[in-house]
Amino acid sequence: MIKIENLHKYFGELEVLKGIDYEIKEKEVVCVIGPSGSGKSTFLRCINLLEEITDGAVYIGDVKVNDPKTNINEIRAEVGMVFQQFNLFPHMNILDNVVMAPMQIRKINRAQAEELAHELLKKVGLDSKAYNYPEQLSGGQQQRVAIARALAMKPKAMLFDEPTSALDPEMVKEVLEVMKNLAAEGMTMVVVTHEMGFAREVGDRVVFMDGGYIVEEGTPEELFGNPKSDRTKAFLGKVL
Ligand code: ADP
Ligand code: MG
Repeated sequence: MIKIENLHKYFGELEVLKGIDYEIKEKEVVCVIGPSGSGKSTFLRCINLLEEITDGAVYIGDVKVNDPKTNINEIRAEVGMVFQQFNLFPHMNILDNVVMAPMQIRKINRAQAEELAHELLKKVGLDSKAYNYPEQLSGGQQQRVAIARALAMKPKAMLFDEPTSALDPEMVKEVLEVMKNLAAEGMTMVVVTHEMGFAREVGDRVVFMDGGYIVEEGTPEELFGNPKSDRTKAFLGKVL
């Protein structure tokens, strides 16, 4: 479903991704862990072309993302993304936040978009807040809305970049719960996270990145239970 081939990314002279090869299968949940600055966000952002790819290739299905002929907006419609900062539109109520992209990009009418939005807000437990504004919601609630908003585009896959890192501890669980349900429904997901419990429980595979490389990957049992690389062991020793 997502295939990454020899991906290199430079910011000016700085090589941030140094040849990443990876494949994410349909319905798979891949958790990406690793120290700060190792290239995790850049890796995610290259998948939906939020960053220009310096060299190598990313495929979503059969479509080469970094082909000049590929419509970037179509790729972004197919691959939803949720950020650490929820980035809801502050001047729009929750319902409008969710209906906007499907109406503008998928060209569905307002009635249909609203029906879908209510359904998704129910799914994340927030339909009662449909007519509130983002500032009236807690961080955890805003992040759940951000997930609903991304799902409204009916993406084929979802990318999450540390979705719980900006949240107060008591709100982490409600967001992870929504993500866990999404995984159980068969959504293909790539999740950059510091939540090792989530990676262990929900991840089908765990990828450890360091210094612009994938150092090691495996099932949660393999990666957490029997890490092969000294770098993986050292990192896990600090976070577990
Ligand atoms: P992580 O998400 O693992 O913390 P990032 O992908 O954000 O790592 O960053 C990897 C490296 O790339 C870091 O050294 C960071 O400073 C650098 N970097 C990230 N974004 C930019 C940018 N827009 N311009 C220049 N350097 C960047
Ligand atoms: Mg990051």
